[in-house]
Amino acid sequence: MNNITSSWTSDDSADLYGIDRWGCGYFTISPHGEVEVLTRTSSAEHRVSLRQIVHGLEERGLQMPIMLRLENLIETRINELYPGFQEAIESSCYQNRYQGVFPIKVNQQAYVVQAITHYGNRHAHGLEVGSKAELLIAMATLSNTESLIICNGYKDAEFIDLGLQARKLGLKCIFVIETLKEVPIILERSTWCGVDPLIGIRLKLSSKVDGQWANDSGHRSLFGLTSTQITAVLDRLKAANKLDCLQLLHFHLGSQIPNIRNIRNGVREACRYFINIAAEGADLKYLDLGGGLGIDYDGTGSGHYSLNYTLAEYCSDVVETIQESLDPHGLPHPVIITESGRAIVAPMSVLLFNILDVVAFDPKHLHLPQADHCEPIRALCEARRNIELKRLQEFYNDAFYYRDQIQEAFLRGQITLRERALGEDCYFAILQTIASFVPQVKYPSAELEHLGDFLADIYYGNFSVFKSLPDAWAINQVFPVMPIHRLHEKPDRKAVIADLTCDCDGKLNRFVGNPGHAKTLPLHSLKDGEEYYIGVFLVGAYQETLGDFHNLFGDTNAASVRVDAKGQVEFVHELKGDSVADVLGYVEHQPKDLYRRFHDFAERSVRASRITVRERQQILKLFSESLSGYTYFKR
Ligand SMILES: *Cc1c(COP(=O)(O)O)cnc(C)c1O
Repeated sequence: MNNITSSWTSDDSADLYGIDRWGCGYFTISPHGEVEVLTRTSSAEHRVSLRQIVHGLEERGLQMPIMLRLENLIETRINELYPGFQEAIESSCYQNRYQGVFPIKVNQQAYVVQAITHYGNRHAHGLEVGSKAELLIAMATLSNTESLIICNGYKDAEFIDLGLQARKLGLKCIFVIETLKEVPIILERSTWCGVDPLIGIRLKLSSKVDGQWANDSGHRSLFGLTSTQITAVLDRLKAANKLDCLQLLHFHLGSQIPNIRNIRNGVREACRYFINIAAEGADLKYLDLGGGLGIDYDGTGSGHYSLNYTLAEYCSDVVETIQESLDPHGLPHPVIITESGRAIVAPMSVLLFNILDVVAFDPKHLHLPQADHCEPIRALCEARRNIELKRLQEFYNDAFYYRDQIQEAFLRGQITLRERALGEDCYFAILQTIASFVPQVKYPSAELEHLGDFLADIYYGNFSVFKSLPDAWAINQVFPVMPIHRLHEKPDRKAVIADLTCDCDGKLNRFVGNPGHAKTLPLHSLKDGEEYYIGVFLVGAYQETLGDFHNLFGDTNAASVRVDAKGQVEFVHELKGDSVADVLGYVEHQPKDLYRRFHDFAERSVRASRITVRERQQILKLFSESLSGYTYFKR
């Protein structure tokens, strides 16, 4: 490939990286070749370059990698959800409203939860909690008494007491029954506290969904009550004269539902339960659809990492299905609740990291083979000079054959390390030449077709897949990845990205392609003395929370920025990532003990005359500075 071709523009990069397909209009590329975030207020639209934000963060002393949160996008997403439902409700004359809750598990960061409740306040956007810890967050964060707290998950007496106290304070805290065992506890504790509980039931639907979690849906779903269990709950509540407390039905088909038909079917089935439970005398007021609203990670419009519907379609399908199901029974329309997590927070976060090094499989020093070189080396060099388009496959086969022979000769001690290196260079040279011919072959074999990927560079990124992009490892999630600058230059390399962990799974090798997915990512050659920045987009949901401490890489630095009405960037929140001492503490290596032990060792070394007292001071200083430093690569 050529280096910079003058005809390459930012539009070409937009097409190459698919930013218009997955960027939902929030991300674009400037004519100067930088990724920009687009923010909208009622009066104005602004575009701000991520490269400029990075510059501002670095000036403030925050190093790469950085989890960048774009606060405006939280506001935007919430503000798209409500009008989405409002329009559907108005156009179908639905006789009730929509009200959302944010499931805290999707991004528990204090700053994020607070931003959501702040921007959601005027819609009385609530919180969904699945544990006591999350309930405490919700109780201390929500101030609008119209907001809902939906309590899912297994609940003990303490959990229930907390929720009942929240009710006393005026919060609408609803217990969604996950198991029969919860019913007597709820009844008993509420009598004791003197507060009537608000109760919901979690349905186990037989509707199946496509996508990543298909096997967990339907009757194999781990959660929800079966019809038998539901009738038992109804009987318990009736016997206690508390059937009026049952106000909500809940289901959750799974996250990232790619297919709108699954959602329609789920709503239809839930409505059948609604009709029957209402007929038993319950005064149902809410229908809670759980999560599942997807994000188009790869811009393909179908499959696990995408979705075949728009927000408008989701809203109108839900509203219409409920209406169609309930109207024949003359039932009042319930408040529609969704627990959309991913769809609200995925776009706001961008993981940013710099590239530390590149390994390319280009031949380095091609000396001519000499007469005394072994046969396979001479054969490889010979083959390379004679490559013909018509016999590409044959040359490809030969390259591998002779490469194996060279390795075999090395094993038997017949050739030296330097000869083996020469052999490897010839081998890569021949493959590079073959790869350059492949585009001219009309029907290349699969091997030839994938040769380009096989020869891709490895770009080493300053981040940990396990800490910052766990789904890329655990479930092969495809996230959009691209450089955030130099996009007016034609990328001249193909690459996979390796992280800092020395784990062969610590890599990114599935990318948004054009069309479909690609195994390699087009990138630019590094320039001396200039950082090259990569962004991984749409990572605001689940990634930070699920990440682990593989190789003891800790939380990255994080920063929240807000573009104000004038288009100026406010750096509203900076959060230093974990220090080495922090992550050591998580695995019970107490930094103080480590330091003391090392200190004693250094002192003994002075006594044994291995080091001087002055050297001891320098060594101890280095040790303690490393303890308090960042776990990632520092420039
Ligand atoms: C995880 C979860 C959600 C969030 O799902 P998204 O697909 O992220 O919107 C909502 N409700 C329940 C019960 C969940 O377990």
